[in-house]
Amino acid sequence: MRLILTAILMVFAVSAFAVEEHTMIRFHIDTAIDQDYIDENAGRLDIADGRREQYYDIVAMEDDIEALQGLGFRIEILQPQLESFYASQYTNSRSNFGIYHTYPEMVEFVDSLRMRFPEVISEKFSIGQSINGNEIWCFRVSDNPDVDEDEPEILFDAMHHAREIMAGEMCIMLGEYLGENYGSDPEITNLVDTREVYIIPMGNPDGVLYNEQTNPTGGGMWRKNRRNNGDGTYGVDLNRNYPYEWGCDYGSSGYPGDETYRGTSPGSEIETQHFMNFINAHNFTIRQSVHTYGDLTLYPWGYTTANTPDEALFREMAAQMVMYNGYTPGQPGDVLYDVCGGTFDWDYGAQDEHGKIYGFTNEIGSSFWPSEANRQPYFDENIWPAIYLIGMAGNLTNVTIEHDQLPFTADYVYGYDVEAMAQGYGGADIVVGSGKLNYRVGGGSLNKVTMRGGGGGMYTARHPGPTQGSGGE
Ligand SMILES: [Zn+2]
Repeated sequence: MRLILTAILMVFAVSAFAVEEHTMIRFHIDTAIDQDYIDENAGRLDIADGRREQYYDIVAMEDDIEALQGLGFRIEILQPQLESFYASQYTNSRSNFGIYHTYPEMVEFVDSLRMRFPEVISEKFSIGQSINGNEIWCFRVSDNPDVDEDEPEILFDAMHHAREIMAGEMCIMLGEYLGENYGSDPEITNLVDTREVYIIPMGNPDGVLYNEQTNPTGGGMWRKNRRNNGDGTYGVDLNRNYPYEWGCDYGSSGYPGDETYRGTSPGSEIETQHFMNFINAHNFTIRQSVHTYGDLTLYPWGYTTANTPDEALFREMAAQMVMYNGYTPGQPGDVLYDVCGGTFDWDYGAQDEHGKIYGFTNEIGSSFWPSEANRQPYFDENIWPAIYLIGMAGNLTNVTIEHDQLPFTADYVYGYDVEAMAQGYGGADIVVGSGKLNYRVGGGSLNKVTMRGGGGGMYTARHPGPTQGSGGE
């Protein structure tokens, strides 16, 4: 009799602690009404992925599913018991999150990179502590890595959203890749020698540690930071907390319990402030704030579908990146829904606080907790876009040249005067004699003429007359 009672009590004890798991659902867009519903409610939903006018994949609880079905929307169950499913992929794993890194394992990995590649990887340093007192670690990849030299700077960061494990992996694997290929691959060697690559793998350590606590074998679905909102809910979405155009009700929420809760004021969160202070103290020209998931390459503006004045350059850069991975490029509102308070609107928009930063967000892959087999392929499809951006970080700080297209001319006797305005980045002077006019006649070899100049940034040179009937470029 006693034994049976004990058994019953134990069953009760287990039930009391059982936590309802999430379900991944697909919300199908069949009509304009469906799309309108998403646009109006994106801030209240936990949207994981989607494509405008096709579908949205949403992290939901049983109540949410019933409510959406009750409103008549077409809902498909993609994955019930999401956390258990995610964790089940790591049964043969080497430790807690399988092949993926917990917060302490990330710290250990970054320390090991320093040990393996001390000539190009700095000691880790903290950009500040989270609200719960955990360090937000950063490391620098460059020649003379422990010195902040005057080289073009680029920032890669990840895990503003705690559950996006592959984003953090991308960052530490990038550090490892640069270290391993330095000295053997001439392109990587040159980039590391001439740029400073800053890497912050886990921007939201409290959220990551919370997932470790609730789901020690992986699959934790916590997204926000761990601020106590004082109403029984926790967390602010750090990627809705940046001050530029903060506070809209589309793609960001004013309700503390929501997954996209933007906080009480612009930049209210200590983690956001650390990022802003760090960025304002540097000269980044590019920031890649990595997220998962959706196979997307996003750029500003997020708060509106209007273009930035640099749309042509953003579009070109995104096009270069997606050439390697086939991701869908665009502004958030073009492919998903408008989002305000995100990283890249502040990166690009807050030009009164720092120089112009071309901010991007790659949304890697198709899962918050991908299988172990996916880790390397996801990295492989994103390493060339990363290397492209590292290259561009330097190109954007180089000389800008403006000149009028040369007219067609029949004059093959006197040649043609070529004029160009040249300007160093940030108004820096051009080294006199460094300007060269390159020209080619009729498919011949490239000729170089030193340009004269440059009063007021104007440089000139004479393109000699081509022989009659030849083409030139
Ligand atoms: Zn995210």
